[in-house]
Amino acid sequence: MELNNTDTAGWIKNRIKQDEIDKYLKNGKDFINDDLIEATIKSNTKPDKKMVEDIISKSLAINALSLDETAYLLNVEDAELLSMMQEAALIIKKKVYDNRIVTFAPLYMSNICVNNCQYCGFRYSNQEADRRVLTQQEVRMETEVLAGEIGHKRLIVVYGEHPNTDYEYIADTLKTIYSVKVPTKNGFGQIRRANVNAAPMSIEALRYLHKVGIGTYQAFQETYHHKTYEAVHPKNTIKGNYKWRLYCMHRAMEAGVDDVGLGALFGLYDWKFEVMALIAHAHELETAFGIGPHTISFPRLEPAENTPFTKNSKYMVSNNDFLKLITVIRLAVPYTGMIITARESREMRTKSLKLGITQTDASTKIGIGAYAAHTDDQQGNKQQFYLGDTRSLDEVIREFAELGYITSFCTAGYRCGRTGKCIMDLLRTGAEGKYCKLNAVLTYREWLDDFASEKTKEAGERVIEKEILEVKNTMPKVYNQFMEYYKRIKGGERDIYF
Ligand code: SAM
Ligand code: SF4
Repeated sequence: MELNNTDTAGWIKNRIKQDEIDKYLKNGKDFINDDLIEATIKSNTKPDKKMVEDIISKSLAINALSLDETAYLLNVEDAELLSMMQEAALIIKKKVYDNRIVTFAPLYMSNICVNNCQYCGFRYSNQEADRRVLTQQEVRMETEVLAGEIGHKRLIVVYGEHPNTDYEYIADTLKTIYSVKVPTKNGFGQIRRANVNAAPMSIEALRYLHKVGIGTYQAFQETYHHKTYEAVHPKNTIKGNYKWRLYCMHRAMEAGVDDVGLGALFGLYDWKFEVMALIAHAHELETAFGIGPHTISFPRLEPAENTPFTKNSKYMVSNNDFLKLITVIRLAVPYTGMIITARESREMRTKSLKLGITQTDASTKIGIGAYAAHTDDQQGNKQQFYLGDTRSLDEVIREFAELGYITSFCTAGYRCGRTGKCIMDLLRTGAEGKYCKLNAVLTYREWLDDFASEKTKEAGERVIEKEILEVKNTMPKVYNQFMEYYKRIKGGERDIYF
């Protein structure tokens, strides 16, 4: 890809607003102290049973852990202690999120990018990538498939970083997505929440996106380790600026986007370091704004077309370490949503459910324009990386139902202003769980009636029956109103919520 035309070069030059970094620094330094993190990992080894029990009871009371406590858990090797941690992780998940799983789909808008991240198939120096930016008409077509054929209500919309896909383009795509309404078997399908994964932006750009209804804003630090960051993100690129990226969530908060999603790309540096830094980032946001991250993601490095780096990293994370890091994150930030994606295999996704995952994607396609093209094959030259699990939403929901989980399509909390600090407080006290339980059943009913195969519907009915009984027994005051909503939905009304 060519980057040397004057417009693009000028855009790149003006992209980073230095004052929107400097204002957050303390004595010129950012909040990730590599040496301190390494030392904390090294000095909190060999935890005994009593110590682990004490740390776990703090998590069970839905309190965030300190970095020392997190390090102790990361260093646990004893099988008995590990299984104690895993049991606690599931208890916490149930306490805060009950048996609900939220699903979404990624929607890739473009693969043009001015950056040159060594691990990514979209990097500008990859001559084999087939470059595309979706037009608004194509965005509409993709959304029609996602909302009208598959039945998704929630997306993560993904963009490369390029002047042609700057915040105005992002805003237009969000407006297009929200405008799509497709008739279905018994009602209609629509996307009710569009989260965004895009490169760091200025406060002004984020304010603009807040106005058009951006959901959670995700941008992963990739690696928090300064030296490694420098090595994989060339200096002369925008992404080469560690601090511009590190403080993008501070800018989002200032812009009013108070649901933010953190993440690290596991496989670039030592996984224990990355977990510690993610938790440090969560603490920093809590301290600065009184709001922790809405979600944490922990993608593992996957192979990408013509991207040799993805096969040669010495920091690849084993399956056992991956499951351990999920457990530790669950215990360290008990009220934060945790996302596992279709990068992982079916087996790993199912295992991770038992450790406290709250969100996952399904029917996933990451080729640009792949939903409307109805292509089932993965197309390396149009994708950022290869996927590990391409099962349909119907299959995934059936599996969840058979395991006793209800899939929630609820997006009501966000639309009623239950976001940011408000949602964190509600989650901590368990109050949000009540709304969520009711709305999960209502949205599950919609999905079963509009999109489920017979087999999935059968499994789903068993889950819904049990849920309704629980509502009756545990929330008698709202039960009658809830059943009235439920019957209206069965009759074809849509989007009724608490
Ligand atoms: N361009 C935006 C940015 O860099 O913030 C959007 C990000 S990208 C399209 C979404 C995420 O995919 C990245 O932040 C990175 O963590 C992840 N990713 C990139 N290459 C990957 C690979 N080879 N395997 C797994 N995940 C990868
Ligand atoms: Fe561009 Fe994002 Fe890929 Fe880096 S990870 S090359 S910024 S799309």
